[in-house]
Amino acid sequence: MNKQVVGFDVPAMVGMSINDIATPSLVLDLDALEWNIQTMGRICKDLNIGHRAHGKMHKSADVAKLQMSLGGAVGICCQKVSEAEAFARAGINNILITNQVVGSPAINRLIALVGSGIEIACCVDHFDNVKMLEAAAQNAGVQLNCLVEIDCGAGRCGVVSPQEAGLLASYIHQSSALSFQGLQAYQGALQHLQSHQDRFQAAAKALHFLEEVLRHLHGLGLSCAVVGGGGTGSFLPEAQSGLYTELQCGSYAFMDADYGRIEDEKGERLDAHSWKNALFLLTRVMSKTRSGLAVCDAGLKSQSVDSGLPLVSQPNDLRYIKCSDEHGILEDEKDSLAVGDLVYLIPGHCDPTCNLHDWYVGIRGGLVESVWPITARGKSW
Ligand SMILES: *Cc1c(COP(=O)(O)O)cnc(C)c1O
Repeated sequence: MNKQVVGFDVPAMVGMSINDIATPSLVLDLDALEWNIQTMGRICKDLNIGHRAHGKMHKSADVAKLQMSLGGAVGICCQKVSEAEAFARAGINNILITNQVVGSPAINRLIALVGSGIEIACCVDHFDNVKMLEAAAQNAGVQLNCLVEIDCGAGRCGVVSPQEAGLLASYIHQSSALSFQGLQAYQGALQHLQSHQDRFQAAAKALHFLEEVLRHLHGLGLSCAVVGGGGTGSFLPEAQSGLYTELQCGSYAFMDADYGRIEDEKGERLDAHSWKNALFLLTRVMSKTRSGLAVCDAGLKSQSVDSGLPLVSQPNDLRYIKCSDEHGILEDEKDSLAVGDLVYLIPGHCDPTCNLHDWYVGIRGGLVESVWPITARGKSW
């Protein structure tokens, strides 16, 4: 895993002290990361279900490899063909694109990935798209694996009736250039509902629809080798339903402030016992000219605030109250901070924050243990 990276654009070197890391940088607490990954592996083993970790969150081949080796993940998910290419180039050979692949540039590159011999599949929800994929696969003489995506209540992509799922699945099943693998059934909108009960209720609706679709497909003589879905906010109802073969949780590995706030079945924060914060935005105090306030060097360009401002993890009596491009305002009531001090932030939303950085600096015991490139950052096409 340890990659000795040299170059002028690297914020840290393996072996150096945390105090010497350039800021702002994303750091990974490797003990916490490994704990999360092992915990998810154990949960899936106990529930007798596969885990295909969602790589759109971390976009890192090194983290994906850890999820597969340490956490027993069968492979990874991603959202875009360019992400899949980056992962494939870095040696990940089992990838599900949990998204529609449209337009000839993306379709042609997907088909090239199929031709390269890795295990890869994508999701479909419309005949027009299926026919374009089929023509491209036929031209190239390959067979493309497809999951039919169903809309479990998020109101985004996915077919909305069992009949539509049946028509698409039958067509794919009969095509020599396509292979029907099963269903994609992810309910994204429920993941961040605050209470455990609300998430379970929303999941119950999704499960009901999935069951109907499966029954309809069964009636048509179609079986699903794969049924995928589930995220960090809701994977128990999916796993316990017996309808799914693979969970797709992603954020559990790093966690963020938004996921930390939601409640587990005991009404406790998800970051209390369930998962550990492993991802931090390490920042330095750059200015301290006013009493009660300090300015740090992590603003909008180093984190996404779409799900709220970051929390301060250490020193733990501070609040991050405002940000602009390259500045963050910290409330420092006791004037405990000095210029140059390090502050650990827990980003509001991990996925889009990771996409803003080139490197993860892995830390353990006060030292830098790894410097990992964020393999697929910026790969949004
Ligand atoms: C983002 C995503 C996930 C993972 O969700 P987390 O909340 O990060 O665990 C799973 N499946 C699909 C299709 C997704 O888009």
